[in-house]
Amino acid sequence: MSETTAELGALLTQRSLTDAQLLEKAEEAADYRILPDATVVKIGGQSVIDRGGSAVLPLVDEIVAARAHHKMLIGTGAGTRARHLYSIAAGLGLPAGVLSQLGASVADQNAEMLAQLLAKHGISHVDTAGLSAVPLYLSEVGAVVFSGMPPYKLWMRPAAEGVIPPYRTDAGCFLVAEQYGCKSMIFVKDENGLYTANPKTSPDADFIPQITVDEMKARGLHDSILEFPVLDLLQSARHVRQVQIVNGLVPGNLTRALAGEHVGTIITAE
Ligand code: ADP
Ligand code: MG
Repeated sequence: MSETTAELGALLTQRSLTDAQLLEKAEEAADYRILPDATVVKIGGQSVIDRGGSAVLPLVDEIVAARAHHKMLIGTGAGTRARHLYSIAAGLGLPAGVLSQLGASVADQNAEMLAQLLAKHGISHVDTAGLSAVPLYLSEVGAVVFSGMPPYKLWMRPAAEGVIPPYRTDAGCFLVAEQYGCKSMIFVKDENGLYTANPKTSPDADFIPQITVDEMKARGLHDSILEFPVLDLLQSARHVRQVQIVNGLVPGNLTRALAGEHVGTIITAE
């Protein structure tokens, strides 16, 4: 047993698990990247999949072509059907944990559909992205599809207000990228990236090619194109210190972003 392991072991038997010295000791080892060559790609629910074939099929073609050069974990959003379920369930007074399960079932449906389209290329859908056969799929066929909702289910931490689950598919996909130590995280949505205001309702809004989390918060944009808890997750991340949001309705954008090009908005932790 190494010295660090022995010291940490001793602290763990004696101290509270949130003791400052214990936490410092537990931090000593260098952070390990489990899947450092992989990229997590989130395909938006409302913004992409709900648009059907005109949006989804060109992306399927890009994914199939890209897997020769990139290893991709493809997460799905939920979208309009989840919002409909949330409105009914919230109207019935049901709690965030129940809404979380309902939302997950829609992200599952989207993962199921996307995987059927990719099936003939050998790309499968995994039940949860939590390891299992993910590394094997990535090394054999270059990609795997997963359902983007984090599996908190009934244990979803409720928001301070309301019953909408705060950690949804943007957060679920980001956490997969961060926990696996992936090289990048790309959010595929239906706008070129972040604007000074929602471009759907403010056509004069200006495009912002790059921004930090603190600037986003200072400009009141924390609750805009990404679920806002993702910003805090990004700031405390060890591996994934920036994310890119790209317009998946523009052919070639996903391919270019996978190659490391700046085609949308890059949000950085600092
Ligand atoms: P997803 O389908 O991945 O869940 P969302 O529909 O939740 O994506 O989020 C993307 C949407 O966020 C865009 O279509 C846009 O209408 C909206 N949005 C709100 N504020 C902004 C902003 N400031 N800049 C860009 N998009 C914004
Ligand atoms: Mg969303």
